[in-house]
Amino acid sequence: MVNGYAAASLAEALEIRSNQKVVPYAGGTDLMVENRSGVDYLFLGKIPELRNINEDDEYIRIGAAVTFTQALEDKKVPALMKEALKRIAAPAIRNAGTFGGNLGNGSAKADSVLIEFVSDARLRLASRDKERIVDVDKFYLGRKKLDLAADELIVEILLPRTGLDRYSYEKVGGRNALAISRVSFAGIFDERDGRITKLAAAFGAVADTVLRYKDLEETMLGKTLDEARELKEKYLEGYAERMVLTQGRVSAEYRKKVCMNLLGDFLAKFGI
Ligand SMILES: Cc1cc2nc3c(=O)[nH]c(=O)nc-3n(C[C@H](O)[C@H](O)[C@H](O)COP(=O)(O)OP(=O)(O)OC[C@H]3O[C@@H](n4cnc5c(N)ncnc54)[C@H](O)[C@@H]3O)c2cc1C
Repeated sequence: MVNGYAAASLAEALEIRSNQKVVPYAGGTDLMVENRSGVDYLFLGKIPELRNINEDDEYIRIGAAVTFTQALEDKKVPALMKEALKRIAAPAIRNAGTFGGNLGNGSAKADSVLIEFVSDARLRLASRDKERIVDVDKFYLGRKKLDLAADELIVEILLPRTGLDRYSYEKVGGRNALAISRVSFAGIFDERDGRITKLAAAFGAVADTVLRYKDLEETMLGKTLDEARELKEKYLEGYAERMVLTQGRVSAEYRKKVCMNLLGDFLAKFGI
């Protein structure tokens, strides 16, 4: 039996969160496997402000209680995000699982979070008395550690509207539909006037948080493709040195090799 509250508005949810010790949830697909007892829950799935996908000049704004199925059906959601959503588990999980829950679980295996990392997404967090916006990579403090106060909720994911069209996405997993990914990769490339303006690469499910090395990416910015090809070996060496992977069911060495291959394929796809 589940004890708890079901908020009808964001204001009500934040009021409850500020006064009570409650565990928020939306789809419950992560919480159901935890089987906690003696806990009060706060259901977010009926809050209209969290169920919408909107856009402004800069961002596609995805409410925290938007389900993966809902996002897959929405034209505003970029193709790169949809690539990752399509590969999440089976339909039943996609119908219930939400963006806020994927973040709230604090796992580096979370597939929508990988896309948020690679695209420099930001998160809108709120408590009863204040609101703040954080970069998604700052939100993850470590394995299962989030920059989220006890009275806060994740309200929206802010995905940049532009610059996400040229990408690579791969999820290498054992049992496809029901697998939690073993290695996932997303890369975004962009160029203007023959010079690279973006070369972002993120790796999921291989360490305590999603891995992304912005300083290595920066070494390629402003370069022509010819210059980038010359730098390629050094750039790849940088990743090989820096990537320290956690041991999983599959060996760290094997997964690192997979990561390096995925990175190499991404570069090759865009002529580097
Ligand atoms: C069989 C199975 C297969 C799965 N496969 C995948 C997969 O392929 N890829 C993948 O990424 N995930 C997978 N998952 C994990 C899960 O479905 C996702 O992480 C999903 O996004 C969780 O969303 P939810 O709404 O169900 O989260 P919930 O279970 O409701 O919540 C998860 C966590 O987030 C917190 N939370 C939820 N909403 C908020 C909010 N608005 N503010 C603050 N905290 C919040 C909760 O307190 C809880 O700690 C799988 C799960 C199962 C059971």
